[in-house]
Amino acid sequence: MAKTIRSGIHALPVLDRIRAAVGPQGLITDAHDVESYVVDWRGYYRGATPAVVRPAGTEEVAAVVKICAETGTAIVPQGGNTGMCGGATPSPAGDQVVLSLARMNRILEVDALNNTITAQAGCILANVQQAAAAADRLFPLSLGAEGSCQIGGNLATNAGGVNVLRYGNARDLALGLEVVLPDGRVWNGLRGLRKDNTGYDLKHVFIGSEGTLGVITAAVLKLFPRPGAQLTALFAVPDPAAAVTLLARLRGGCGERVSAFELISRLCLDLVLEHIPGTREPLPQTHPWYVLAELADTAGAASLRGDFERTVTGATDEALVRDAVVAESTAQAQSLWRMREAIPEASRAEGPLYRHDISIPVSRIPDFITAADGALERGFPGVRVICFGHLGDGNLHYNMFAPDRLHGDAAARTAAGVNRTVYDIVLRHGGSFSAEHGIGQAKRGELAYYKSAVELETMRALKRTFDPRNIMNPGKVFPGETPE
Ligand code: FAD
Ligand code: ZN
Repeated sequence: MAKTIRSGIHALPVLDRIRAAVGPQGLITDAHDVESYVVDWRGYYRGATPAVVRPAGTEEVAAVVKICAETGTAIVPQGGNTGMCGGATPSPAGDQVVLSLARMNRILEVDALNNTITAQAGCILANVQQAAAAADRLFPLSLGAEGSCQIGGNLATNAGGVNVLRYGNARDLALGLEVVLPDGRVWNGLRGLRKDNTGYDLKHVFIGSEGTLGVITAAVLKLFPRPGAQLTALFAVPDPAAAVTLLARLRGGCGERVSAFELISRLCLDLVLEHIPGTREPLPQTHPWYVLAELADTAGAASLRGDFERTVTGATDEALVRDAVVAESTAQAQSLWRMREAIPEASRAEGPLYRHDISIPVSRIPDFITAADGALERGFPGVRVICFGHLGDGNLHYNMFAPDRLHGDAAARTAAGVNRTVYDIVLRHGGSFSAEHGIGQAKRGELAYYKSAVELETMRALKRTFDPRNIMNPGKVFPGETPE
């Protein structure tokens, strides 16, 4: 199969046919211009490709996929290339074409009364948010990469971000999809319906499938009323258990208006203060843990502030909160959020990191952190844990730096040992080893190890049904198909 693909793509007719389908402006073959498409955001995965195809519309995507299906040429769909698991990076063998959705970046319709927006898959997330705001609506998906990730990539990875607590993840925000299937046929499921029980809900098969079942070309997404009043606060808390109880108190006192609840350890804040210019200590004293919370209301600011202050006074009396700062301006709110959002960037500046994007029932998070911290310290003396994330969703980015002296094989052995230690404890606490970043290339081994045979075989059956020739993003998600 691999040989057929290689000879197929290098034989002139395939690229010529693709060029004829998309025009010269839709094809990049120059090695220098291809560079940014073959390396992932972290700089961790490097692939090779004979061509990056940049179709201008769904018909062009369909024509390209049809050519690839006929010639057995593998396709790697790519959005903003901000994914964390190498899912959008082609294989180093140079036998897969990258299909970039970047030119398909039009908002097709905003229906304010139906509270929906229809966008092409290549729309940058921030542009979808802006188009919603221009119609006095909110599109709530929000993540650190929103200035460059695309809505198609968000759906293909079922992205989460900071507002899942209130609005759900990308899956919960999608009403309809348009998808080019692996044989080049177009499925138009662009329906803006909140109720539609007409057989299997196909869109959910493609959402979160990381480009392995088809190319998402457009989507109908949910909009919400735009909150007029917003409140951003940073709390200092003694420990994660206090943070979990504070979340319950805030939701009890302020209800669904709590839209984000992010946990930040002191070490994260230290890294941000050290590596990110313009950041400064947010409170007079240092504390072991912090929570960044956001509340929003379509009604007036006064009632939101009143309920918030009553709840926080109660939480302070209970010794859940040691100190707090409430943003008094948009600029202050932004600088608090900057601190949270810069953690990945600051960690990257500090050095190589072992990453664990895990989820656990919220109630069990304090126990998990105690157990995992203890096991790592015992097994790998000198590790530094960088723990932060979307506590309100039970999703932590439980990352760590290895001891400095490790290199080469020792580092690889430690990485494997660290990962297994963390994921085993995650499993014991009823959790998942990949909460929002997906599998890509990075976590195929974990998928094989931690998923049941029944679940894995059912997934494989779906893959075979949709993509019998295995041309859609081969070597991703499923273990043991293509070497990395
Ligand atoms: P890409 O990286 O280009 O692709 C990701 C996967 O989707 C690949 O498997 C690719 O083949 C597939 N794909 C892309 N487009 C399509 C399409 N149109 N059709 C079919 N398959 C497609 N993620 C979160 O969930 N929450 C966060 O809070 C978060 N924060 C981040 C912060 C930073 C600073 C960065 C760099 C990343 C963060 N991410 C986060 C990860 C990343 O931004 C998300 O996974 C995002 O959804 C990826 O979108 P993308 O357009 O960049 O996709
Ligand atoms: Zn995240």
